[in-house]
Order: sequence, then C-alpha cells, then structure tokens
Amino acid sequence: MGFFGKSKKSKNEILEMPDLEKLRRAVDNAGLPDYGLAVAEKEIERLSKTDPAAPEYAIEIAYLEYLTSLPWNKYTDDNLDLDRAKQTLDSYHYGLESVKERILEFLAVRTLCSMKPFRVLVVDDEAVARTNLEYVLRKEGYEVAVAENGSEALEKLVVGEFDLLLTDLKMEKIDGMQLLERVKKIAPHMETIIFTGYATVSSAVEALQHGAAHYLTKPINLDELREVVKKIRDKKRHIIQNVSGPILCFSGPPGTEKTSVGKAIAEALGRKFTRLSMAGMRDESELKGHRRTYVGAMPGRIINEIKRLGVRNPLFMLDEIDKMGQDFRGDPSSVLLEILDPEQNNYFLDYYLDLPFDLSPVIFIATANSVEDLSAPLRDRMEVITFSGYSEKEKLHIARSHLIPKQLAASGLIPDSPQFSDDAIIKIIREYTEESGVRNLEREIATVCRKLAKARLEGSATRRPTPVGPAEVENLLGPRKYRRQTKYNSDRVGVSTGLVWTDFGGEIIFVETSIMPGAQELILTGSLGSVIKESAQTALSYIRSHARELGIDSDFYAHKDIHIHIPAGDIPKDGPSAGLTIAIALISLLTGRKVRSDVAITGELSLTGRILPVKGVKEKILAAQRATIKTVIFPKENAKDIETLDEEVLEEIQVITVEELLEVIDVALMPLEGER
Ligand code: ADP
Repeated sequence: MGFFGKSKKSKNEILEMPDLEKLRRAVDNAGLPDYGLAVAEKEIERLSKTDPAAPEYAIEIAYLEYLTSLPWNKYTDDNLDLDRAKQTLDSYHYGLESVKERILEFLAVRTLCSMKPFRVLVVDDEAVARTNLEYVLRKEGYEVAVAENGSEALEKLVVGEFDLLLTDLKMEKIDGMQLLERVKKIAPHMETIIFTGYATVSSAVEALQHGAAHYLTKPINLDELREVVKKIRDKKRHIIQNVSGPILCFSGPPGTEKTSVGKAIAEALGRKFTRLSMAGMRDESELKGHRRTYVGAMPGRIINEIKRLGVRNPLFMLDEIDKMGQDFRGDPSSVLLEILDPEQNNYFLDYYLDLPFDLSPVIFIATANSVEDLSAPLRDRMEVITFSGYSEKEKLHIARSHLIPKQLAASGLIPDSPQFSDDAIIKIIREYTEESGVRNLEREIATVCRKLAKARLEGSATRRPTPVGPAEVENLLGPRKYRRQTKYNSDRVGVSTGLVWTDFGGEIIFVETSIMPGAQELILTGSLGSVIKESAQTALSYIRSHARELGIDSDFYAHKDIHIHIPAGDIPKDGPSAGLTIAIALISLLTGRKVRSDVAITGELSLTGRILPVKGVKEKILAAQRATIKTVIFPKENAKDIETLDEEVLEEIQVITVEELLEVIDVALMPLEGER
C-alpha cells in the first residue's frame, strides 16, 4: 500500500528521512483500521512536505507516534471458566453473597455468548464443491449451511444469523458480487470470502472493494481456506466477547469491597485491570483530550490508560462517578454515557486522537457511593449492584479471615504471628473507627502490625506469638479516637431518635422540639434541607388536623411558636424520611408522653398520616445497632427489603413495620406517668 501522494520532494529525499521511515513502518504494523490508515497516510504525506525545523513537524510526529502506539488490535483472551471465577471470588471476599451471585450471572452470560457456534453459509452452484466445503468446515467445528444460488442464500440470511459467507463469484441470476451488495444491507456485520475459478486481478480487487474480507481462487487450497476462516473467527471472537449489556455500577459506602470485587472479576477473566477516579474531574478534556490545534494538546485519560495497558479489552473501573458533578465543565452524564454505554462507545472520540476508537471491548464498571443524584438517563442504562455496610459481627469475621492475615504478612510478622483476641478487634472497631465499610479498620490493624514489627526487631518483644488484647491495642494505638454516638440514656419528652442514610452509611439523629409563647411560627434549625423542612410542616399540619384523636388540645398552636432542631451539623440532613420521627417528637411534646430512647424511627409521613417507604434500610439498621437501639420502626412497604437481610444483621434488634402514624404512637411513646 502506498502512503505518499504527490509530494514536492523527491521520493529519495523522503526515504532518507529516518523519522518518516520509522513512522511508515510503525503505521504498517499498528493494526490500524482502514479509517485510521487513511488518516495516517495523509499525515505522513503532509509531513513529507513540511520543513523538519517547523514547530508543526514535531507535533505531527508526536501525534503519529501516539496513534501507532495504541493497541488497535491487541486483546487478551478471556478465561471463561465459571468455577474458577467462583473460587477467585470466594477466596478473596467474605460474605457478599448476592453480589457474587450477580457477578457470576454476568460472567455466565459472557461465557454463553462466546460459546455460540461460528456459523458459515456456503453458496456454490456446483453440488460437489458445496458438499466438499461443508465437510471441511464442519470438521473444523463450524456450523455450516449451504445454498445453491444467490436467492436461496438471501432467503437463508434473512431468517438465520451467520458469521461468515463463503460464496462463488460466478453464478446464475444473482452472482457473488451482487450477493455481496445485498448482504451488506441485510447483515452488515457478516464477513464474506469470495472464490471463483476465473480469477482475475480486477474481480479480486472489485470484491475487496465491495467489502469482501478475502478472495480465494479455485481450486481452493484447503489449508489456505482453513487459515483464512480461522483468522476471521478469531477476530469475531473478540467482538462476540463484547456482549453488550447494561453498564454495571457498584454502589455503596467506602471500604465495602467495590474496587476489590472489580479486581477479582478482572483476575477471573484474565483481563488487565485499571481504575480512574472521577472525583474532582473538572473538565471534559481530562477524559477526552484536547484538540491538536491547542499548544501542548494531550490525549484524554481514557485513551491514555488503554495505551498504557497495551490491550484494548481491559476491565476499567470508573470510580466515584457520583462525585464528578458540580463544577464539571460540560455535562458529566453525557460524557459518562459516551464512555460507558456500549451503544455509543464504539465510536468514542478523543479530541487529540481525532479518530473514533472503539471502546466496546472494554468492560467498564462504574462505582458510586450513592446513585440517587445521578441523572435519569445514566441511571436507566446502569444495572446497580448494591454493596452495603457491615455489621459488627461481619467486620469481626472480615478482620479475622482477611484483614489481619493480610497485614501480618505485609509487616513480615509470619511465622510466629501475634494473636489478636476478639475483644481486641472489637475494641478497634468500636473505638478507633467509625465507618460502614472496613477501610479504616484495615488501616488501624496495619498500624498495630507495624508497631509490633518494630517492637520485635528492637527486641522488646520475644519471637513467641504475642497475644494482642484490648490493653495492647490501647498501648499501640493511643487513646480512643471515637466515642460512638449512642442513644440517650433516658426517655425524654419532645426528643425522638431518627435514622438517616448518607454516602458514608447510616447514622442516628435526634429530633428536638420545644414550644413557647409566640405568634404561631414554626422555627426550624440544624442546617436542614428544603425537603426535610417540608416534612416538618406536614407533620405539624397532620397533628393540628388530628389533634382531638391524638389527645391534644386543638388550640395548642394559638399564641405559641414551635421550634424543631436537629443537632449534628456534619450530617447532611435532607430527604423525606424524617417526617415520622418529627411527628413523634411533636406528639410527645404536645401530649407530655416521653419518647422511648431505645426506639429509632424512620418513614415519610403523608398529610393523611400514611407512612411511605424509605431508602438505605440495611445501613439504617446497622447504625441503630451501633447505637445500641433495641427497636426500629420502618414503613410497611420496606418489609420486602428487610426480608432480604442476613439474620446476623437482624440479631439483637426488633424491627416493627407500620402503615399509619397512629400505629407508632404506643410503640414509641411511654404512657403518661400517672397512667402506668
Ligand atoms: P471500596 O472500593 O468499596 O471503597 P475496597 O475494595 O477498596 O473498597 O476495600 C477496602 C479494603 O477492605 C480492601 O482491602 C478489602 O480487601 C477489604 N474488604 C472490604 N470488604 C471485604 C470483605 N467482604 N471481605 C474481605 N475483605 C474486605
């Protein structure tokens, strides 16, 4: 193939240029698709006319070097052994049963799709040739159908899906070339090989121009046929492996294994792994590069990662996609869809590259702490797999079976490892961490191990396995870092306990209320969002309109102000789920009945007193457990979420589900002192 058009310099001069010579070779070997090859040729031609001292010369050279260094046709082969994948997941990760199940389904779909037989349609008007070809190809393991002329072939193509068409060129009525034309419309992704006994260079060229992948002459050399078909099969196999499906998104608090599971999938499949944090991405160009017209233009980070890995089908994690919003220049969700969505990403355009690069072979997995605020089009295209926080017991297991062995090994404390007692681990969990996941727990365990390693070398500890109990933990880690937020010690009037759900897991909050002389004002404080403010108004209106039923003086609001305050400034407080908690605090305030301090309440309240469902059920229950709450009240519609929780999470806590506000009153409020 010639790269040079008419140039002002002589051919000899060009060949003497070492840069161009090298580039030309690189272009030949880069495996560029046709459109890329055309661009590369044009660029080299332009370079051949450019003065090497001109600034554009170096820019162009850098561009072509970049273009040719991309892995246009380099893939790793997927290992689609489901048992092995299961073992990999089990050996690394404790629990997470529903997550693992979903991942195995994901891998099973890929395996089945890639096991689809390779289907070939042979078209020849000579019966002997047809039978022979059918026999040879069947022996190679392909599924073969035959047709004796073009129209029969078209009929078969309309009803069945084929990967390859092998057709004679000279046939009656519809010949091979016409068939090729029609096929392009019916099955644009099918490859074609043309053969004929009357081979001429012109018909070969014409067939290739019409989109045939290869041209064989009759009598067909069977070795050549086998090789060509195998090549096409291999090429298609990589396409088949790009099973397009929903985009996977792992959602959950930090330190709940999202990244580690991503890595394990890559390991199980035998794919290269990379991740890119989206938090703090400010500009579309960070992802998609700058146009070459800018001085110092660079490719974006997506293409750069692909280049660095040297294969075009890695597993690519895009971390914290929910954290890119706000000051991002451009629309984050449309950029994300362009990258993630298999329907769009086969034409991914990096501005620097200025050529489409097909990202569909990449398995993208997005992660987010919460998918609530993602745009609707993005959320609709994603299949969200929820990773939830861990209970104290789960954390203990994870520490025992994974974190401690890992950190002991990393600190060189094997053999004769120190022995952590359960009490020591629980002390670290309770007093040195405050999280839903186990990231800080792992960090604190690492600190303990490092200090023990130093002590061992200094000779202050013997080589005997030292026991690590709560006292050693305090010695090594210093005074406790956290005093866990617990329930109130005593029941109070006008103060109820609620449960909120944030990006970092669940938390408990207290709703405090007071009433004082005033002018019917509702005062709301505690950095509350607009939705929670509306919930407070709804709760008050409900109580005013049902005062008699609730045993409250119907005039209670006359000449009074009501103040609702929710302390803990660092917890974001918005969303409708505090409605019921606020209503209960107010009813307590107005009836004088104390709220039980060991009950936590969550639920949206409608103006008619119905209780509507809430989000983050598991995180909220875990937060209640951490705070030693005994009973939690949830909306009835959340019963189905509660049923899916492990027994371990529900141990030591009573969950009550309710439909109406009136059902909550006697559970959450104590009787009046005199009425007991
Ligand atoms: P994320 O990506 O969700 O923030 P990571 O995958 O980075 O979390 O996990 C943080 C650390 O916690 C890792 O070292 C991981 O091995 C450990 N870890 C978390 N959950 C588990 C679990 N269920 N089993 C084993 N290790 C875990």
